[in-house]
Amino acid sequence: MTAVLTMREHWVEQARKVPSPNFGERPAGAGVSLLVIHNISLPPGEFGGPYIDAFFCNRLEPSDHPYFEEIAGMQVSSHFLIRRDGELVQYVACDKRAWHAGRSCWRDQEECNDFSVGIELEGTDHEAYTDAQYAVLVDLVTLLRAEYPEIAEDALTGHADIAPGRKTDPGEAFDWARLQHGLANAGEDLA
Ligand SMILES: [Zn+2]
Repeated sequence: MTAVLTMREHWVEQARKVPSPNFGERPAGAGVSLLVIHNISLPPGEFGGPYIDAFFCNRLEPSDHPYFEEIAGMQVSSHFLIRRDGELVQYVACDKRAWHAGRSCWRDQEECNDFSVGIELEGTDHEAYTDAQYAVLVDLVTLLRAEYPEIAEDALTGHADIAPGRKTDPGEAFDWARLQHGLANAGEDLA
């Protein structure tokens, strides 16, 4: 069986590539060992539109929406975004350090950006994610686990879990059991 997604030099070949300037080198010796799930929508609660790409590339126009005035100066990024229709977008190469987690801690290891890949789902904490998003997320996690063997099977977490009290995403709407079920089935298909 051929893989649905493939990777070349730390970029997913099937993703739409929108290179962000917001990244750095990982610390010496730090590989990818954690996957972090987030959500984002711009403006909040609205889907579609060009604003997430613009935000991650420091091109958000503050005058386009009152909320953008608050965030336009922030320099942030994520490796991936999965849009409502399942479109996969990549902003930062996976061997680089994207700026998605902020102050964070995973099992006594601080600064999760150093050793994680960030995956944004277009959405909110309270609205069900789409079938297409779960399908692409399963394919992407399966690919990343294959490419970066340092990612342990349980090293899959939410932003809220590594930044409690500060972040809430991906929120109650995210169905972790559905993701785990999808991943288990994907493994069976490959066996
Ligand atoms: Zn987040």
